[in-house]
Amino acid sequence: MAVPNYAFFRGKIVPYSDAKIGVMTHALNYGTAAFGGVRGYWSEAEEELFIFRPQDHYKRLLNSAKLMNMDVGYSPDELVHITIELLQKEGYRQDVYVRPLIYFADEIIGVKLHDLKTEITIFSVPFDKYVSNDTGAHVTVSSWRRVDDNSIPARGKIAGAYVNTAFIKSDAVRSGFDEALVLNQDGHISEGSAENFFMVRDGVLITPPITDNILEGITRRSVIELARNELNLEVRERSIDRTEVYISDELFLTGTAAQVTAITRVDHRQIADGKMGPLTAKLRELYSDAVRGKLKKYRHWNQAGLRENGRELVNV
Ligand code: PMP
Repeated sequence: MAVPNYAFFRGKIVPYSDAKIGVMTHALNYGTAAFGGVRGYWSEAEEELFIFRPQDHYKRLLNSAKLMNMDVGYSPDELVHITIELLQKEGYRQDVYVRPLIYFADEIIGVKLHDLKTEITIFSVPFDKYVSNDTGAHVTVSSWRRVDDNSIPARGKIAGAYVNTAFIKSDAVRSGFDEALVLNQDGHISEGSAENFFMVRDGVLITPPITDNILEGITRRSVIELARNELNLEVRERSIDRTEVYISDELFLTGTAAQVTAITRVDHRQIADGKMGPLTAKLRELYSDAVRGKLKKYRHWNQAGLRENGRELVNV
């Protein structure tokens, strides 16, 4: 993957090669950081880069930082502004992924969350697909368990907790699967390695509740809204057993990176007829239109990055 040209680092946008930290940095040694993942979608039609729900992403990021006892000193609006400035400087005319990272920057020995210095960096890279087979993924149920709210909270994106994700993802991929579903400590399906999870049974869309140790996903929230408002679907948030997944009608994953990824096989069992389900296909299309600003009703989800705000910024 190509590295960015620029990064927001220690309060300003600098060449990426200047955004360096020391090896003693607390976050590098102990995983004491919180991060986000935001996508920008290039619209050919409007010659515009639309950032998807950045306010919501930054609100969640600041909540993750709050869990970590971090003092960030920027509001979501300020972080959106910085992101636009950064994307503008990069001058992308393609889909991108933005990674904000809030971290404990002290170069000290000692594991704790108090009396430490918080810093934030933001960088962006061109981005395409995350799950290679996003129209018919074969997933396994991981032998690893999801981190628990009382060990490392899964509701936020806490860097150290992603070692759990890494175990899950690598085991799945090395065993020949595209992704994995993860059970929580109660034995219910929580989510994918880095995606939220949905199941269709008898025309009802079902997804685990936040209290089942899942990330408070922004794609999840968007898809629930689209399903209710545009497809008139009943959406239920309830715990899901492993074996009802095997006998479900449709399955899919959602995430900023994964978007809406159809699952057609679980642990070598075919789901329904083994093809992407009709509701999954509709939600995929609605989501893909929404992120590129094609749905008027959801234009408030699209933050213009290049033209509208961007040009103003350049002239400041
Ligand atoms: N769960 C986990 C563990 C994740 O890392 C992600 C990716 N951010 C998601 C779910 C999906 O969340 P979102 O839709 O906000 O990207």
